[in-house]
Amino acid sequence: LYVDHPLGQGQSVPLERDQAHYLFGVMRLGLGDAVLVFEGQSGEWRATVAEASKKRGVLIVEEQTRPQQYPPDLWLLFAPIKKARTDFIVEKAAEMGAARICPVQTEFTNSERIRQDRLQAHAVEAAEQCGGTYVPEVTALQKLDALLNTWPDDRQILFCDEALAGPSSALISLAKNDRSGPWAILIGPEGGFSDAERRRLAALPQAHAISLGPRILRADTAAVAALTIWQQALGD
Ligand code: SAM
Repeated sequence: LYVDHPLGQGQSVPLERDQAHYLFGVMRLGLGDAVLVFEGQSGEWRATVAEASKKRGVLIVEEQTRPQQYPPDLWLLFAPIKKARTDFIVEKAAEMGAARICPVQTEFTNSERIRQDRLQAHAVEAAEQCGGTYVPEVTALQKLDALLNTWPDDRQILFCDEALAGPSSALISLAKNDRSGPWAILIGPEGGFSDAERRRLAALPQAHAISLGPRILRADTAAVAALTIWQQALGD
């Protein structure tokens, strides 16, 4: 269970209403029962239920059960699409171990607003479901060109370019030559990238245009495919 509260031996952790409902209403836990908790920075801890009602509850932290683990330093940059598909991308990126998830506004991005809190909640749920101790940060929507203007020198970008649409082996050979990161993956919107964006990325030494295979994938499929190929070629 993710808690937005510092953890340490003897610490008491108040539960949010929905957490109390889940633990005591759905999971049927009661006083003295154990719950594994994490807050994203200090690993996993065993806590016991000290107060329980339908609307509130308190846990007392007992001992650390696992040290903190961090994913590889990989960011996923993607242009938001329809709500449910954007939710899917965030959920899968968190499951696949992206360290940061960055919605970006490109020239052909159709949605200009996102619910950052809702997407962050999806990242929390995904981290809980896959037993992680880390929750990736979902950043606010940023313009792609502004982001590229201040792009760090040492972070390489895998620019997934549907116009290449060839075999995806380019990534594998890139990986053989240079595994050093940190890394980012960039996925475009339904309308793809504009010519100006392609030129901008071609001029950026950190960017490597790659294909995800001979077929044009939907953006949500492309995000999962790129994360999988990255993990295979470069992940640890
Ligand atoms: N409207 C574009 C077109 O018809 O050419 C397709 C855009 S695609 C639905 C959304 C994004 O997924 C692309 O911008 C790209 O980042 C990624 N993508 C999809 N298929 C790809 C492929 N075969 N290789 C590389 N990237 C791909």
